[in-house]
Amino acid sequence: MLFSQLAEYYEKIEAISSRIEMTNLLVDLLRKSPPEIVDKVVYLTIGEIYPPFMGVELGVADKLALRALKLASGLSEKIVKDEYAKLGDIGAAAEKLLQKRSQITLHIRELTVLDVYQALEKIAKTVGEGAMDMKVQILVGLLSSASPKEAKYILRIVTGKLRLGVADMTILDALSILYGGGKETRELFERAYNLTSDIGLVAKIAATEGLEGIKRIKISIGRPIRPMLAERLSSAEEILEKMGGQCLAEYKYDGERMQIHKKGEEVIIFSRRQENITSQYPDVVEIIRRNVKAEEAILECEAVAIDPDTGDMLPFQELMHRKRKHDIEKAVKEYPINLYFFDILYLNGRDLTQTPLHERRKILEGVIERDERVNLSKAIFTDNPVELEKFFHEAIEAGCEGLVVKNISREAVYRAGARGWLWIKYKRDYKSEMIDTVDLVVVGAFHGRGRRSGKYGALLMAAYDPEKDIFQSVCKVGSGFTDEDLEKLPTILEQYKIPHKHPRVETGMEADVWFEPRIVLEIIGAEITLSPIHRAAWGKIKEDSGLAIRFPRFTGRYRFDKSPEDATTISELIQMYRSQLKKITETATT
Ligand code: ATP
Repeated sequence: MLFSQLAEYYEKIEAISSRIEMTNLLVDLLRKSPPEIVDKVVYLTIGEIYPPFMGVELGVADKLALRALKLASGLSEKIVKDEYAKLGDIGAAAEKLLQKRSQITLHIRELTVLDVYQALEKIAKTVGEGAMDMKVQILVGLLSSASPKEAKYILRIVTGKLRLGVADMTILDALSILYGGGKETRELFERAYNLTSDIGLVAKIAATEGLEGIKRIKISIGRPIRPMLAERLSSAEEILEKMGGQCLAEYKYDGERMQIHKKGEEVIIFSRRQENITSQYPDVVEIIRRNVKAEEAILECEAVAIDPDTGDMLPFQELMHRKRKHDIEKAVKEYPINLYFFDILYLNGRDLTQTPLHERRKILEGVIERDERVNLSKAIFTDNPVELEKFFHEAIEAGCEGLVVKNISREAVYRAGARGWLWIKYKRDYKSEMIDTVDLVVVGAFHGRGRRSGKYGALLMAAYDPEKDIFQSVCKVGSGFTDEDLEKLPTILEQYKIPHKHPRVETGMEADVWFEPRIVLEIIGAEITLSPIHRAAWGKIKEDSGLAIRFPRFTGRYRFDKSPEDATTISELIQMYRSQLKKITETATT
């Protein structure tokens, strides 16, 4: 197939705005494409040369492409640059400039689609010293044989700017019309795509094996499965109703979704968008080899940044530190993560996507060996909206975004690539900020681990209730302490140590060590939330709920000048919680 034919189609596609017409043109193009190269036609048409999970990027910079254009056209740098500046599109500039040349030169031979594809592949794969010059050379070679119109599209593809508006979904439409006989088979093509994330492969199988081939497409290790996604609702009652009365509610971790493929010792990690992110997470690779008891498996988990000193979950932004190319080992040490597995899609040759969730979860439990870093997502089975609500607040307070509530009927299969009601996310409608610091009393402590072993890892903090003259817990704080703080805290607290919880303390937490309420520390947090664990303002805002500080941090100020009864009071906390809410409603209405 000649590349000029493809360029003709591109020109036509570019000129239309109706999706139906675009689909018809694609049907026509796919019909004319020889089956052996139909995958390549498809990749080129969406401006790629491989499916995204292969991680091969064309991305030639405009500057480099301009150099190639200058050499291929024989024109001066100034003329090339001026034309590019005038048109703002390297493809259009090439078409215009090469028109002058083509009047005097004859093409040596006509380019085929395969010629172009292979040259682009070579450009993408050329790395290392002298790579830039090599890339330019290959591009000059292509442009020298290209007609002005072909050059236009070659340069747009190579610089990542083809933008015909053809999406994977439009190609699926065209494939189902051409090889499936119409829209009725669209679902089968979509299934094939969802299981492989490779639109070129689906096209090739359709062209070579027909609809039967499409039906035979299976999950395969190394090819990401498009993720199942959740709908959203904002109350426990509505969610349970939609779930048919009962559900599995899981923490919605605020981390990075990973789809992990394991085959023996080989491990590949795909992102939510099917990119291969294995190189960013050598620690995850190790964990999978160690903790996944299966020869072959495809698993899904959420990777969450944790505070190495306390084991507490940190917000999603902390994972950004792992998105670097160099010093990965250092990042792994400084920004450790925990893995929370929530699904299994494939095990030792068996496709589990059609297996109901409760069975998948059972299988998952048998495959994952848990330890300090690895667990299944925290979950409860429930049919009670009050319990669901309570679990939701617990999740928020623990640093999660809320819950993902999942259907547990027999129909609850893994619907790859679909956003549906089998999963419902329950997040808050607002985010708020805690502006003021609070002064809280130390009432307990937790043993440290890792770098903090032998010291306290976190402290249990309480606010004061003057009415009852007691101290009610409001958070567990492990962040913000310097090494010096950690050294001196045991000494400061030693004299107040008692063998059990102090009678004037109320909390739903079990501390390792208890103290007489004496020492006051200044704390700041992200926000004040409802809590089923902490007892501050218990029942005052909501039945069976107290208030807690989310992501609390010690500011560094010891308030030795304050007696415990001078600590922030329950009513002050309630006040802060309400004014937060007020602010949220105000922002919502503006
Ligand atoms: P969001 O931006 O809210 O995370 P999303 O579009 O990425 O939304 P949704 O389907 O709306 O995805 O929500 C599900 C997401 O929640 C998953 O992509 C996953 O990253 C994350 N997640 C966290 N914990 C779980 C869990 N236990 N089960 C499923 N997904 C979870």
